[in-house]
Amino acid sequence: MEVRAENVRKEFDRFPALHDVSLDIRSGELIALLGPSGSGKTTLLRLIAGLERPTSGRILFGDEDASDKSVQERNIGFVFQHYALFRHMSILENVSFGLRVRPRSSRPSNADIRRRALELLDLVQLSGLETRFPSQLSGGQRQRVALARALAIEPRVLLLDEPFGALDAQVRRELRKWLREIHDRTGHTTVFVTHDQEEALELADRLCVMSQGRIEQVGTPDNVYDTPASPFVFAFIGESSQLPVHVENGAVHLGNQSLGLAAPGSAGTGQLFFRPHDIELVEDSEALGGNVVASRRVGGTRRLEIALAETAQRVEIDLPFDHPAVERSRVGFRPKRWKVFPTG
Ligand code: ADP
Ligand code: MG
Repeated sequence: MEVRAENVRKEFDRFPALHDVSLDIRSGELIALLGPSGSGKTTLLRLIAGLERPTSGRILFGDEDASDKSVQERNIGFVFQHYALFRHMSILENVSFGLRVRPRSSRPSNADIRRRALELLDLVQLSGLETRFPSQLSGGQRQRVALARALAIEPRVLLLDEPFGALDAQVRRELRKWLREIHDRTGHTTVFVTHDQEEALELADRLCVMSQGRIEQVGTPDNVYDTPASPFVFAFIGESSQLPVHVENGAVHLGNQSLGLAAPGSAGTGQLFFRPHDIELVEDSEALGGNVVASRRVGGTRRLEIALAETAQRVEIDLPFDHPAVERSRVGFRPKRWKVFPTG
């Protein structure tokens, strides 16, 4: 099911939690809403679900305006970070619940409900645990039950709000891979909310990066990482250094010094962004350079912190851990991939 938000605004007591948000969610894709806490991710999810109504704008399911449809009519599957399972029900009863409470006319037979619930427990790799109660499962197992329960109603859209947020890092990584596999097998249109960029980059077909109630960028993980559309996205996704620069005569300058970076287009002040690994060491004078003030090994790379000769500002670069230059006290380098966002 294709879902669209069209110029959606949402205010709580006049405080705008979302400003004019438009987003097309494609049928069958797994899209991640990624942003810091308070950026409006949950609000957008709740609007899609029908748990909130937009102050203005519309939510469409296919070509249908969903504005007047209830949560039930929208047929949504939900998993939240702390989605309490029903404690007094067995795992099988939990997964069956959504089908059991259907009106008689659309309710499958008891045998069919049982069969479907067992199939889903198999899908989430919990076969054999159907008679247990939630308190007898680990956190990761409970979230897998929550997902099976969400899938039981054959939802048109699956909404996941930080479903692995409360679990430890190792379990999160496993569940992430597992969710991706389930998605590939079942093909549900899925919206996944997270503030964890690693989770989003690894899991999603597309990212929707949000900040302060606005969408900053929508694109594939590669596209967003390689060509951030705004200073916010550049700083938020991946690592980067920033320097205040100015563009003149088609080149980027730091103070009076040209950095050897061609910037066609209009002159003016701006903020230069680059990632620590997107640099090359150079010997010439049109470059950045300075003293190495700190150095630490992270896996296969060595991260150098450099105090720039020009301005004493600190930036970071990465070199292979066994590169001879890591022993130097002074290095010159130039960003290979970079972007100047005008500030003037
Ligand atoms: P996120 O999920 O990205 O952390 P939310 O969508 O929960 O962000 O919140 C966005 C903004 O809207 C926050 O400033 C939050 O305080 C506010 N907000 C969310 N829900 C309500 C509510 N029911 N009443 C008042 N303010 C709310
Ligand atoms: Mg939230």
